[in-house]
Amino acid sequence: MVSDKLAKLLILQDRDARHGQLLRQRESIPAEREKARASIAAEEARRKENADALTRLEVEREELEGRVEDLEEAIRKYQTQQLQVKKNEEYGALEHEIATARAKISETEDEELNVLEAIDHKAVANRRDEEEIAERIRVFETELKRLDEAEREVEAAIETGRDAVKAAETDVDPALLESYRFVKTQVKRPPYVVALNDGRCGGCHLKVSGEIESGARKGHDVVRCDNCGRIVYFQR
Ligand SMILES: [Zn+2]
Repeated sequence: MVSDKLAKLLILQDRDARHGQLLRQRESIPAEREKARASIAAEEARRKENADALTRLEVEREELEGRVEDLEEAIRKYQTQQLQVKKNEEYGALEHEIATARAKISETEDEELNVLEAIDHKAVANRRDEEEIAERIRVFETELKRLDEAEREVEAAIETGRDAVKAAETDVDPALLESYRFVKTQVKRPPYVVALNDGRCGGCHLKVSGEIESGARKGHDVVRCDNCGRIVYFQR
């Protein structure tokens, strides 16, 4: 049992703590939201990377195809020249050029086949990846919706909590409320009002002086721990 005055102060402390907890909860939401957004951006980057890799292969294939067309065009030119030359060695030189170009065409077409194969593999891999990417994005988007909802809920709870704190404050003895507010500015972490346990402060866990202990035992209004400054009370 504690005195009526103290009981009212403890109610205030409880509501204060709850309110503080809600404020921290709200504060953590933007970082969580940022994390989900960054995850979505990472998935989208992966999707783009996949698409770009496929495009690069397609460009490569087009280049090889263009090279084959150029070589075919060169062969047709050599063949036309062959019709016009008079000397055998000139004809032979053109024949050699044509053979070289044909070898290059065959080489390029082999390369093109390899690239075509790579395109097929990449397309299959991209489709498989895309399913996973889309699924993960869905999960993060759901998380974002959940965070919006959580934020709305916590905002409402903060409003209600603030009213509850104000109501509790009006119930507390003014002098005691002033001390409580002062202690809040002095002590880093709640709780600010703690029971003595075996002569030890329930906040810093150090033994208080005999004077403090007896003051608390007598039920004096404001008795503070001589180590940490918290308001201490004796629990009967
Ligand atoms: Zn203490």
